[in-house]
Amino acid sequence: AAKDGGRGRHHFYAADLHSDAEERRQLEQDLRDALIHGGLELYYQPIVHTSTERITGFEALLRWNHPERGPLSPGKFIPIAEDSGLITQIGEWVLRTACHDLSAWPEGIRVAVNVSALQFANPNLPAIITSALAAAQIEPSRVELEITESVFLNDDAGTDAMFAALKRVGVRLALDDFGTGYSSLGYLKKAPFDKIKIDQSFVRGATIAGSRNGAIIASIVSLAEALGMETTAEGVETLDELDFVRMQGCSHIQGFIYEQPLSLAQATKKLGEGITAIARGPRAARAVR
Ligand code: C2E
Ligand code: MG
Ligand code: MG
Ligand code: MG
Repeated sequence: AAKDGGRGRHHFYAADLHSDAEERRQLEQDLRDALIHGGLELYYQPIVHTSTERITGFEALLRWNHPERGPLSPGKFIPIAEDSGLITQIGEWVLRTACHDLSAWPEGIRVAVNVSALQFANPNLPAIITSALAAAQIEPSRVELEITESVFLNDDAGTDAMFAALKRVGVRLALDDFGTGYSSLGYLKKAPFDKIKIDQSFVRGATIAGSRNGAIIASIVSLAEALGMETTAEGVETLDELDFVRMQGCSHIQGFIYEQPLSLAQATKKLGEGITAIARGPRAARAVR
């Protein structure tokens, strides 16, 4: 009986694999079309300075509204773009579009752009960035590249050379999703990061009452401070989380407690209005009770 069950599962699994490969091939083709025909869009999530509660910049987040399937999350299509190599062209489009959009915003505002490990391994990346900066006529220091620990998987001379080249271009560097990757603290010593982004898995449930996540955040912040780096707490959703990351001294905050990723028009409007945190409402209410 166990053997039969195993065989049954095997057949089912093989069929699944087939349709999964098929689906990926179709999505890859659709993604290619979207890139060519303007089907991709950047949304912008505010990054808020903790003590002033002002927007200091936005993270550019890719959105794809699939013609038949509706909005697909980057978690679904970025891996397909990476596996197919399409991420190189998509990444260039993201950099150019983000720089262009940034040029309409005030000088003090930055844009953060996600760069996948495959883009980071491309020796043309510094030239692509230089070209995007020149086309939009913006200062390199207004652009922050978000890189994950996965770039250290190939910890070789090429990685070191890329960091040096990007520093020469003058863009800022942020280490994204910190603590979720292939953690060796060694790379923090040599890689010239300006900022550490604390992954939302640590922020979730970190409260003043104390928690394991809280202890981890506290130690990341003190490590970053000792190394002269800023910190952004990612994915802050609740008032307790907000209070905690503020208390721990995270320099910046990003999360639904302030804003979701916004369309370009919405983001520009937000800048004009100044940030009014969603937190203001509940905060005010809480002060009263
Ligand atoms: P990420 O770079 O860590 O981006 C942060 C993600 O957290 C975004 O998801 C954002 O919408 C989400 N987020 C922000 N605040 C909150 C919150 O309070 N609660 C919750 N639950 N989520 C929050 P998104 O837009 O779905 O992007 C997912 C990932 O896809 C990104 O993670 C990034 O790794 C990748 N990605 C997005 N755009 C690009 C891109 O242009 N290029 C590359 N290479 N990767 C991208
Ligand atoms: Mg990011
Ligand atoms: Mg992140
Ligand atoms: Mg992520």
